[in-house]
Amino acid sequence: MRIQYSNDKKIFSLHTGGIPYLSFDMLDGLGVPNLYTTRFLSYDSETGTGEEGMRVAVMNNETVDEASPVVRAYRDKLAHQLGSTLDRECITDQKHTNYVHVAAAGDLGLREKPLHMQYVDGVVTDIPDVLLTVFGADCPSVYIADPVRKAIGLVHAGWKGTLGRIPEVAVANMVVRFGCDPADMYAAIGPGICRDCYEMGDEVYDAFAEQWSPEEAERIFSRYPAADADGNDIPGGKYHLDLREANLMTLLRAGIPADHIEISNVCTKCNADIFYSYRARRMENEQAAMMINRFGNI
Ligand SMILES: [Zn+2]
Repeated sequence: MRIQYSNDKKIFSLHTGGIPYLSFDMLDGLGVPNLYTTRFLSYDSETGTGEEGMRVAVMNNETVDEASPVVRAYRDKLAHQLGSTLDRECITDQKHTNYVHVAAAGDLGLREKPLHMQYVDGVVTDIPDVLLTVFGADCPSVYIADPVRKAIGLVHAGWKGTLGRIPEVAVANMVVRFGCDPADMYAAIGPGICRDCYEMGDEVYDAFAEQWSPEEAERIFSRYPAADADGNDIPGGKYHLDLREANLMTLLRAGIPADHIEISNVCTKCNADIFYSYRARRMENEQAAMMINRFGNI
C-alpha cells in the first residue's frame, strides 16, 4: 500500500494479514491493541493490489437494518484481529460535539447505537478489555492511554470537536472518574486531513480566535492562495487549519508530556486512493479507529 507520509518518521505499522489496517507503534509498545482502517478489505503486499469496499459505519444514505449486519461483520472481523469481540465494543455515532461518555457495562456489545451514544464524540473507559470504536473520514481520531490506571479514551476530533478541545475533555473525564494523572498518559493523533488540504472559511478562524485566543489561532491557521468556483484568484487567499497542531496544543494543555504524544503523518485526502475522504469526495464509508483497554502483549 503506497501511503504518502508527510514526514520520514516511522509512526505506524501496516498490517495486511486479514482486513488491512495501520497501528500506532507507540501504542503497540504499551501493549494496547489499536487500529485505523483503510478502504481495503484485503491487500496483497506482493502484487500491490487489494479488494476495496470496506464498510465499518452505517452511512446517512443507508438504513440501519440493511447496513448494520454488513458493517458489524466487518467490525467483528477487525475486533478478532485485535484480539477482541463485538460483545466488548462501545460504539459512538458522533455529531461533532465535544461530549465524552464514560462507558458503562450496559453500553457494550449493542447492535445499534443507543440515543445517548449518538450524541457523544468520544468515550473513555477503565473497564478491562473494552473495545472503543469511533469513525472518521478526514476528521482525526485521538487515542489516549494511561498504563498506570489502565484506562483509555478515544475521541473524534473534527474542527468543531477540536475547537471544543474534545481531547482535553476526555483527559479530564479520565482524571475525575478514574484517578488518572495526565503525566502518565500517552496520546496519538490519528490519520486525518492535513493542513495543505484543509481550506476553511474565515468564520472558523474567528471561532478559534474567540474561543481559544488570537495567538493560538495564528499558530494553527495559515493563509494559502485560493481560487473561487470560476478559477479566479481570491485576493489574500483562504485560511487552512492544522488539526494536528491544534490537537497537539490541546493535549499538551491537558498535561500530557510532549514525549508521550505521537502525531499522524498520514493525510486521508492526500491518500484518497487508500482512505475514505470527505474533502476528496470519497465518502462511500468511513474509517474506523479502534482501541482496546488492555495493556500488555496479547
Ligand atoms: Zn493532505
